[in-house]
Amino acid sequence: MLYARVVLPLAQPAYTYAFDESTGIGVGDAVVVQFGARRYYTGIVWEITTERPQLGRIKSISRRLYSTPLVGGWQRRMWEWVADYYICTLGEVMRMALPSLAKPSADSFEEFSKEIFKMPTESYVALAEELLPLGGEQLAQRIESLCRRAPRRAEIMRRIASLAAEKGAADGFVRRRLIDADPSILTAMRSRSLIRTEQRERTAEGETAGDFLLPQLSPAQQLALGQIRQAVDSLQPALLHGVTGSGKTEIYMHLIAETLSRGKDVLMLVPEIVITSQLVERMERIFSSHVTSYHSKLTPHRRTEIYLRLAASSGGELVVGARSAMFLPLPHLGLIVVDEEHDQSYKQTDTQPRYNARDCAVIMGRLAGAGVVLGSATPSLESYVNSLSGKYRKVDLTERYGGGELPAVIVSDTMRAVKRNERKVHFNRVLLDGMAEALEAGEQAMLFQNRRGYAPYIECRECGWTARCPHCNVTLTLHRQPERLECHYCGYTMTPPAACPNCKTQNISTMGFGTEKVEQEISRLFPEARIARLDRDTSTSERAFRTIVSAFEQGETDIMVGTQIITKGFDFDRVSLVGILNADNLLNAPDFRSAERAFQLMMQVAGRAGRRRGGSRVIIQTSQPQHPVIRQVAAGDYEAMARQQLDERRTFNYPPYSRLTRFALRCRDYDRLREGANVMAEMLRRKFGHRVMGPVSSAVETIRGEHRAEIAVKIESGASFGRAREMMREVLDRMHSSPDYKSVTIAVDVDAQ
Ligand SMILES: [Zn+2]
Ligand SMILES: [Zn+2]
Repeated sequence: MLYARVVLPLAQPAYTYAFDESTGIGVGDAVVVQFGARRYYTGIVWEITTERPQLGRIKSISRRLYSTPLVGGWQRRMWEWVADYYICTLGEVMRMALPSLAKPSADSFEEFSKEIFKMPTESYVALAEELLPLGGEQLAQRIESLCRRAPRRAEIMRRIASLAAEKGAADGFVRRRLIDADPSILTAMRSRSLIRTEQRERTAEGETAGDFLLPQLSPAQQLALGQIRQAVDSLQPALLHGVTGSGKTEIYMHLIAETLSRGKDVLMLVPEIVITSQLVERMERIFSSHVTSYHSKLTPHRRTEIYLRLAASSGGELVVGARSAMFLPLPHLGLIVVDEEHDQSYKQTDTQPRYNARDCAVIMGRLAGAGVVLGSATPSLESYVNSLSGKYRKVDLTERYGGGELPAVIVSDTMRAVKRNERKVHFNRVLLDGMAEALEAGEQAMLFQNRRGYAPYIECRECGWTARCPHCNVTLTLHRQPERLECHYCGYTMTPPAACPNCKTQNISTMGFGTEKVEQEISRLFPEARIARLDRDTSTSERAFRTIVSAFEQGETDIMVGTQIITKGFDFDRVSLVGILNADNLLNAPDFRSAERAFQLMMQVAGRAGRRRGGSRVIIQTSQPQHPVIRQVAAGDYEAMARQQLDERRTFNYPPYSRLTRFALRCRDYDRLREGANVMAEMLRRKFGHRVMGPVSSAVETIRGEHRAEIAVKIESGASFGRAREMMREVLDRMHSSPDYKSVTIAVDVDAQ
């Protein structure tokens, strides 16, 4: 008998099960085990030992699932790193890392067996066994004699033979869909034992690597490629800092081709796959069937199929995916590219573990012995500091690809425009004039406003009443299509009241403005223009999203109004004007990262302008034209922004000069939450002293009827963060095991954003 430590998809430690050596079960295999009185779970074999544990009765592993291990090699060490670093259990990593259908659970073994995922299959055909050893003239004669007066059958047999030879299929089987034949003919041929058929797991088309048609690189790109190659060869992460439109993607393509040619796998992470569908298409044009795209919008079935196929792959795979793709099994990983590495969507914020895929990528590179390339036009300060210290190799691309000019940035003072009567509703005259000119010239404009909906809130002019969500401590946003008040935290909606529920007057007005209002006003000011709006309300599906984007791409719409979503990775040739409608709400966010974020966001929006031609403009409306970040954006001066922000972060001991861990507590009972938060903060203070901040109420105090509080711990960079995490884990365990705080949920966020 052997004993296995099995990880279950629960917030629990691994449990020990027995199994017989003859089952062939190994480390990383998925197995079925019984846990508790009745429940059956999928588990992952983590360790195997011959020593029987001392404690109690030990159950046996019911059976092994799938023919290949689900978690192999470097991936096991990655899971361990994630569990340790983000202060959670291996079970929680498993719960998140494996697609849902790859880890069934059920109340009986029979139920469980029904839930096991079957890989999709396809038909294969081969010539009759006795014909296999024959070749050339001999085979031709034999086929002739077997298919007298049936030339179609003879033709099919010759086709099977030649395909099998071409593909080097030793057993003679080739894909049935490569044979152009009617199913009824094949059935008849099989019944006469001319051919054999078989169902096999569907796999990707085997294709020879090496002859990819790659884009030409400019001398600047060549130079950057050379520098990155050096870093990659010595397993030092490279930070590619290239202005928008400098052609980072073309450099990635060369690196990817080199890696695939060596039979290795490539993982390319992108912020949001829906937004990057243009990129996937470009990759597919070059790398065809090597490319797999992986993201949360895929069906569970498709995700599971991809996972299982990759676990068994023999290398040469290119996965382009969002954050969650970092948990895919790529046994022959040779290169990881993290595009737009500064993007916030790499950080998981809603479930445990709250990992950052960019940071994990660097660790993965080390564990798998793979090269790592982080790319951005506006690197995160964390990565920038790592490049200054020499931990990362910094590679710069300062000119636009194809000689395109950077747009001119114009800062437009909103207060001044109001005083001079040069403002119509939410637009300063310089912006309206610019739009009129662009439309006149048959060019396109993009308008960025960081709020969706019509207005962020409505207010009674008489008594000051505002519409608020009954479940969350926030105002309701007014939407017009369809007419409703909506909570952006929990989705609660209600019909806007005709009169103030408080004082019964009808003097209710809208405050602030969102994309819907911008769209409406712009269509009033430019009645001839065709306007599109891109935000979460209009792009509810990938299809709706693509329709809006491709209409703009084709020039079927003139003006695109949108939220953050328009800032990411688009490449529109005809955009000559970009307007940032309200920079103030970016600058004034109450967060130590707000300046960095505002800079990144504005630079990304600005980067959408005039990628191929000169003379394009970016107009920023703000009431703080002298704000350092506005000046840095206007000058396109990343270094100035970085220097100033790093100075401030150092002074106040914020990341990257410290590590910030945040504990988010929530509970329906307000008093219980306060008490729990105080007790936990006290325990942390006993270990960490002044490094503990809080508890404070969260920015939004109540969501879905749950009260929320936060405690933060700042550990200075020089101290042992490993030891600190151990101590934090102890405090968490004590909170979890205390009967007083059963109802308090605690989430840990290491390197909180
Ligand atoms: Zn009122
Ligand atoms: Zn709500």
